Amino acid sequence: MNRHIQLYDTTLRDGTQREGISLSLDDKLKIAARLDAFGMDYIEGGWPGSNPKDVEFFRRAPSLGLGHARLAAFGSTRRKNTRPADDANIQALLGAETPVVTLVGKSWELHVVDVLETTAAENLAMIEDSVAYCREQGKEVIYDAEHFFDGYKANPEYAISTLEAAARGGAVCVVLCDTNGGSLPWEVEEATARVAGRLGAPVGIHTHDDAGCGVANSLAAIRAGAVQVQGTINGYGERVANANLCTIIPDLQLKMGYDCVSPERLAGLTDLSRYVAELANLTHDDHLPYVGASAFAHKGGIHVAAMLKHAASYQHLDPAIVGNQQRSVVSELSGRGNLIDKVNQFHLNPESLDIPKVLEQIKQLEAQGFTFEGAEASVELMLRRTHPAYVPPFEMTDYSVMVQRRRGRGSIVEATVKVRVGPKIMHTVAEGNGPVNALDAALRQALIGVFPQLSGVRLADYKVRILDGENNTAATTRVLIESRQGARRWSTVGASPNIIDASWRALADSMEYALVAGN
Ligand SMILES: [Zn+2]
Repeated sequence: MNRHIQLYDTTLRDGTQREGISLSLDDKLKIAARLDAFGMDYIEGGWPGSNPKDVEFFRRAPSLGLGHARLAAFGSTRRKNTRPADDANIQALLGAETPVVTLVGKSWELHVVDVLETTAAENLAMIEDSVAYCREQGKEVIYDAEHFFDGYKANPEYAISTLEAAARGGAVCVVLCDTNGGSLPWEVEEATARVAGRLGAPVGIHTHDDAGCGVANSLAAIRAGAVQVQGTINGYGERVANANLCTIIPDLQLKMGYDCVSPERLAGLTDLSRYVAELANLTHDDHLPYVGASAFAHKGGIHVAAMLKHAASYQHLDPAIVGNQQRSVVSELSGRGNLIDKVNQFHLNPESLDIPKVLEQIKQLEAQGFTFEGAEASVELMLRRTHPAYVPPFEMTDYSVMVQRRRGRGSIVEATVKVRVGPKIMHTVAEGNGPVNALDAALRQALIGVFPQLSGVRLADYKVRILDGENNTAATTRVLIESRQGARRWSTVGASPNIIDASWRALADSMEYALVAGN
């Protein structure tokens, strides 16, 4: 049995310190439930002494009925020259009624003297008293040694003596924090090895990514003997990032041979990463290691051709292990292999399709400003259209868009479209809050009478990119549209010197795809 590394998630506390994240109470509760289902050993829910939302979170947390994870409330050691029993912060921490309390204290004399304005000896007493008091109240106490590595560089003996104070107080784990994120892996490894050799208590690691080494520093500490790793989902955290658990967990388990979660749960990692991004209202980063949409995407024709022969030729592991999937990306760099791979993915029959023709079309259209990497639905339609028996479900013949601004009435946008379905011609008008919105509404209105199945189709995202107009020619506009219907999502592309025309092409593909594909 491999050595188990305790996973301590602080997405709900340190993660929310990221600029741009604000989780509602409901979001926090939902994320806690997902972290528990994934197999986190500890979930740090917040800092009850700092805000009412966190107090309320801990009040409602018991209703989650966490199955595996132990919930931790976070707060600092007592203030100087008081008793823990009289310290409001510590009382708020105990009031959270969690099984685990995580106390943060100072290890760096600079902070002790200049920030806390107290003595080195009083700081040690603050740490030991606070830990011992929370233990007496029946809590499992984890001690976070803030700025440990900076303190260790300045005065290793004093920094280690702060950890010993926590261990004497009864901390179950003493966590070395690289709070400012500026340490390097070999520094972390050396200091952690020394602490682990000297301290009776188990050691943990908490790093930030300010020097781009958050993950590497966590791995180095585990190698040196740490048994607990703290971090956040997707690395969300203050300034640059916290150490990213979505990278650390597979690294520890798949590359270093430690045990973190069961293989079934590890296969839920990509879903967990996306889920947290969704609730945090952040776009999921396609380029995250292991869990990003591009983590196993292959674009170069040579790569794809090799991958079709042997999956291990161009990827470091089987993406299914972390719940991700391999993709080939279709672009002007593609070879036949990329398209064959797509044909298989779309469950089409390659015999009846003209693959060289589509490859040629892609190259020509990309030269005009299209890009098919993010528009798989448009690629699938191009392939389907080469089938001799393919009949497009509708044909868009004309459109016009009128935009007016009138004094006292603001702006008015109206679109008119003409669409042919078999022998019938539909002619509709719709208003919208912008030209694309009006065009979309008119097109939808025209088609919905004949194709009621389009009623659930929604525009989910609309991206416009202006490609530079060199040599004083008009710039090309590229429009990427993401549509959804229930859980189904697809993306289409259009490009033209005219933004309305580019949108029109992407919209037409979106509707056609909704009718002919993937049903
Ligand atoms: Zn932190």
